[in-house]
Amino acid sequence: MKLVSVVGTRPNFIKEVLINRRLKALGVHEVLVHTGQHYDQAMSTDFFDQLEIPTPDYLFKVPTDSAAKQTAVILIKVEDILLKEKPDVTLVYGDVTSTLAGALASARLRIPVAHVEAGIRTEARHNPEEINRRLTDHLSSLLMTNTEDATAALLKEGFSPSDVVQTGDVMQDILMQTIDRMKLQIRRGDYHLATVHRAENVDDPVRLKEIVEGFINSGERILFPVHPRTKKRLVEFGLMERLKKSGNVKILPPLGYKEFVPLLAEADKVLTDSGGVRREAYILGKPVIVLIEITWFPAIADCGWKKIAGANRAAIVDAIRNFVPPAEHPSLFGDGLAHEHIVDAIISRFS
Ligand code: UDP
Repeated sequence: MKLVSVVGTRPNFIKEVLINRRLKALGVHEVLVHTGQHYDQAMSTDFFDQLEIPTPDYLFKVPTDSAAKQTAVILIKVEDILLKEKPDVTLVYGDVTSTLAGALASARLRIPVAHVEAGIRTEARHNPEEINRRLTDHLSSLLMTNTEDATAALLKEGFSPSDVVQTGDVMQDILMQTIDRMKLQIRRGDYHLATVHRAENVDDPVRLKEIVEGFINSGERILFPVHPRTKKRLVEFGLMERLKKSGNVKILPPLGYKEFVPLLAEADKVLTDSGGVRREAYILGKPVIVLIEITWFPAIADCGWKKIAGANRAAIVDAIRNFVPPAEHPSLFGDGLAHEHIVDAIISRFS
């Protein structure tokens, strides 16, 4: 059996690691395509090196100034590869431009698509990730979900139960393996960890300023590894200097996974607009303060571990100082073997 995996961004690389190893262990030929959506040392190369992901079989250079151009170039290049490689199935992850473009190229060639992290839904229909996820799901023959909510959303939308497999969350698998391998302690330390990179927040000067002021006005110690896109906007909107002079917020470069996970493990609370980081924070028992009004993974909010502060400085300060989740912390993201369930589902369907 032959499979083409399309990855393009930091969270895609993290999701690929254990699936890649499992495919190899079972003798499945995986052709790895890196679209170059994230391309620099900190957002790409460091992840391949640290996580020992094999060198991609194909690596593109794609435009970065427009999502439409990026989608178009990835679509054309992935089509060429699929015509040459003729795989049994194309595997795509998550909800980025590379996910949608890879799925579209494949479906148009009648090569079936398997989607990891299918079914995650919100009402925010304008959100770029929401668009990518909904369209990719409709192009996919095998939809692999990480939570009950995602499975229920797909069934409600009319997807056939035989095409939907609830595998659990591969991000939880790699997170817990990394914690074990690095022998990290999970404890509530004396700082909070923040990440911000959603377009809705960083491209809007008012929202970004509210978030920055919320961090600073809390007066509490916050470590803030800054995504390249966010850095550009902080500088452009004159907020970088304000953060640097704040005294309580420490700006860091984007971190490698093996630097980020230890900070997560010892954080007190986590402030984020990331889809992945909010799950990781919950899994490690950190109160999650969400900096966007998009409720991916409502189960975290339902059990009281997530506070939506949005981009409102007063709500952010209040959540940092006062948010206390309940003692109960149910397991929401599977049994730690999602990577095995994903590969099993692919093999039983397409080999
Ligand atoms: N991450 C990292 N270094 C950082 C920030 C995040 O390794 O400085 C990891 C984090 O542990 C998680 C993933 O990147 O596994 C989340 O990616 P991101 O927030 O960029 O994307 P999203 O999950 O929102 O799609």
